[in-house]
Amino acid sequence: MIEEILTNLYRIEIPLPRSPLKALNSYVIKDTERNLIIDTGWNQKECLVAMEAGLSQLRVDLRRTDFFITHLHADHFGLLPDLVTESSKIYFNQPDTDRFRSGFLWDNLAHFALLNGYPERELQASLQSHPGFKFRPNSDLVFSILKEGATLSFGDYAFNCIETPGHTLGHMCLYEPKQKIFVAGDHLLSDITPNIQLWSDERDPLKEYFESLDKVYKLDIKLVLPGHRSIFRNYRERIEELKQHHQKRLDEIISILEKGDKHAFQVASEMSWDILCDSWDLFPVSQKWFATGEAIAHLKYLKEKGVIKSEMRNQTIVFSLNGHPTPLQN
Ligand SMILES: [Zn+2]
Repeated sequence: MIEEILTNLYRIEIPLPRSPLKALNSYVIKDTERNLIIDTGWNQKECLVAMEAGLSQLRVDLRRTDFFITHLHADHFGLLPDLVTESSKIYFNQPDTDRFRSGFLWDNLAHFALLNGYPERELQASLQSHPGFKFRPNSDLVFSILKEGATLSFGDYAFNCIETPGHTLGHMCLYEPKQKIFVAGDHLLSDITPNIQLWSDERDPLKEYFESLDKVYKLDIKLVLPGHRSIFRNYRERIEELKQHHQKRLDEIISILEKGDKHAFQVASEMSWDILCDSWDLFPVSQKWFATGEAIAHLKYLKEKGVIKSEMRNQTIVFSLNGHPTPLQN
């Protein structure tokens, strides 16, 4: 499906079969000199077929095309090796490039998951069904690094690069100040909530995400072009909703820990999830992985705020309330 959003700016819907995300929005800017494609879809047959059909309908010549990738998730860049040509530049951010260079570090992920109570028998299945593993790019890629404030000009559009860490460490959005359009990647979505996960002890991604939301709130935006689902306008209202959503999550975790000390996998199993499943045991393994990562990110935020603490018990990280919690303000 192709839609013209503004002059020479198109959206191609790339299906993501069997993913709750349903599809990825790939944006294409056509120009007489060079075209730009923003995000690509997975390294997978259905994605490639949809992308090729869209590009041929738009008569996009890949030999005159560059790419901008919002962040290091396979649904946004897995298909790149099938699309890049010798002259293509792939614009990307530094933190996610470093992560890509270091490999996906599945052993580290597995170790950290076990420390957080993830059952060993489900771990391999979770990692193997992980789309980031299954649909990652099948060859190496060379990136041109963009930093905050850099400008990306294609046709009538001159985008400012806006660093929006949270969904990934290096997540980057594009803002076009003349037309007031905002390419949001997975920083702002309208119909679903961007997933904020943590799989190491090094960061506080929810804090970063809150800060990135506040940063975008201040921009003057007419149209948000998100990485998934519908294009929307009411971004300030949506930012408020997203902040409230995470606030509720934090409150929910505090009430879960009020009932007793728990590791992150147990906390995730007791949180309420927007998925059609009767019980945690019936959750698809890939969704348990996302849920646990989301729980760890929220636990880390509460720990950094001093509301909860953690300690090692039997080689597992166990979280407990820290004395008398005060109401949280972000
Ligand atoms: Zn995505």
